[in-house]
Amino acid sequence: MRKKYLTKGPAQTKKLGEILAKEILKANPGKRLIIGLEGDLGGGKTTFLQGFAQGLGIKEKVSSPTFVILRKFRIKNPRFKNLYHIDCYRIQKPKEILDLGFKEIISDHQNIAVIEWADKIKNFLPGGSLILKFQFVDKNSREIWLIKRKG
Ligand code: ADP
Ligand code: MG
Repeated sequence: MRKKYLTKGPAQTKKLGEILAKEILKANPGKRLIIGLEGDLGGGKTTFLQGFAQGLGIKEKVSSPTFVILRKFRIKNPRFKNLYHIDCYRIQKPKEILDLGFKEIISDHQNIAVIEWADKIKNFLPGGSLILKFQFVDKNSREIWLIKRKG
């Protein structure tokens, strides 16, 4: 599955995140949810995640973690417990992610994991993960591809 979106300004990218989160809460396949965000710095990954977290009903502010690689947010929903925001920007070797408990996080189907710079840990991303690719079009426009990995 592949879908393409074009957003004009950060508000539209946030809205896309919010809509996707709400769709996911409505759909109920009982599967785990892993979302990888890829694309250049300033592409809109964190902006998207802010809207996504809002759509899940999370009130805390999601920001770009400067030194922190992993953040956990509670979700008040019968199906999902936690949103994990993982930022691989500073990771040097993919294995570092395992020291953070990555496998435990993604094996719990009540967790949602959203991973910025997911291409850095692609071998650890299970089949069925959703990938969002953020491409710069111009100052205020981004092309965003939604791709579902096989599996
Ligand atoms: P990343 O996490 O991919 O590095 P951020 O979300 O932190 O990117 O930053 C995106 C930057 O681009 C913000 O400064 C935002 O205001 C700006 N921007 C401009 N147009 C868009 C757009 N259409 N979608 C998302 N961000 C946009
Ligand atoms: Mg970011």
